[in-house]
Amino acid sequence: MEQANIVIIGGGVVGCAIARALSARWGDVFVLEALPKIGMGASSRNSGVIHSGLYYPPRSLKARHCLRGNQLTYEFCAAHGVPHRRTGKLVIASSPAESEELAALMRTGETNGVENMQIIDRAAIRAREPHVAGFQAIEIPSTGIVGSEELVKAYARIATDQGAHIVVQAKVERLEPTRDAIRVFSTAGEIETRCLVNSAGLYADEVAQLLGSAMADHRIYPVRGEYCELQRSRQDWIRGLVYPLPHPEGVSLGVHLTKTVWGNVLVGPTARYLDDKNNYEREREPIAEFARSAKLLLPELEPSDLLPAYSGIRAKLTPPGKRGEKRVADFIIARDPQFPCVVQLIGIESPGLTSAPSIADDVRDLAAEILD
Ligand SMILES: Cc1cc2nc3c(=O)[nH]c(=O)nc-3n(C[C@H](O)[C@H](O)[C@H](O)COP(=O)(O)OP(=O)(O)OC[C@H]3O[C@@H](n4cnc5c(N)ncnc54)[C@H](O)[C@@H]3O)c2cc1C
Repeated sequence: MEQANIVIIGGGVVGCAIARALSARWGDVFVLEALPKIGMGASSRNSGVIHSGLYYPPRSLKARHCLRGNQLTYEFCAAHGVPHRRTGKLVIASSPAESEELAALMRTGETNGVENMQIIDRAAIRAREPHVAGFQAIEIPSTGIVGSEELVKAYARIATDQGAHIVVQAKVERLEPTRDAIRVFSTAGEIETRCLVNSAGLYADEVAQLLGSAMADHRIYPVRGEYCELQRSRQDWIRGLVYPLPHPEGVSLGVHLTKTVWGNVLVGPTARYLDDKNNYEREREPIAEFARSAKLLLPELEPSDLLPAYSGIRAKLTPPGKRGEKRVADFIIARDPQFPCVVQLIGIESPGLTSAPSIADDVRDLAAEILD
């Protein structure tokens, strides 16, 4: 059987960022990706926002990785020619009744270390975004956008240049722990590894289950986010990133307006719990529903201004709850107590794209405990 130092299951943005960090230090690093290309899961089906770290509970892994990942992502994109732009972002309070919530959100951001935010008024909102309505907004200069597929490819390219092997159409189907290694059986062959990293996104709980790990109890609930986009003739209605206040139950950041690096404007994503991790398209939200949600921010918007676009599926650790019940969970990034040569990453939902290089640094430290 072929021998590896490290096998990473999952060629999304997180798996590829980890491969880049680990292959700088160790040889015989493999990424096994089930699909025909890397980055076809959540990593290319998102808003492409480089988040600032505003929303997450202080001292959480999400807050720490987002803050550090924000800076590392900008540095990486600039160094490696990945399309990106530091656009800044507005989070809008639509009426005076939302002012208090807006101020509380800004305090959370300040506690997390987000810098140079300010509250702006209706006139300043109009000056920045002439078509957007709002009573007040937080302006966050550190938020930006990135071409997410290009980001995944750049992490993978550097990993490969450093000697890592990225193998596609390699779905991991069986894992067999031995005394101090793991045997990995995939559709591309078999390999024994001294260190295994589970970075399987939506399927991370099922990969943990293949190992017989109790960490598989951290079940992943798929929550679909659908997008529409503005018709080309309406794209100049939005200059940057415009968000409402986040969903009160913590399920999503709310249907927002995102001008991508390519100049089109996304409207979304929605949030709907699914039974099927593969259901990207069935029973999509009617376009009129997108127009209704986004009209609060963009009053001129009519359903005829929108075209349906792609959807992505979030890897949520919280089940659907009752109305009004908070549903917030942190990333799980840890060595498996039952299988110490395994690093488990479970529930890497938003801000996972932003956090990837910071998560990769922590996984490198955990891998060093196993391999050095
Ligand atoms: C709608 C939406 C909007 C988002 N917006 C943002 C945003 O604006 N900014 C931000 O920072 N984050 C955002 N996120 C979150 C971000 O996209 C994810 O956190 C990130 O892409 C997760 O990366 P990943 O590598 O863990 O998962 P994935 O990209 O899903 O990769 C996991 C990979 O594992 C593979 N795999 C699974 N099982 C196996 C197996 N058994 N064998 C081999 N391979 C396997 C899959 O095929 C997949 O390619 C958003 C997410 C969604 C869904």
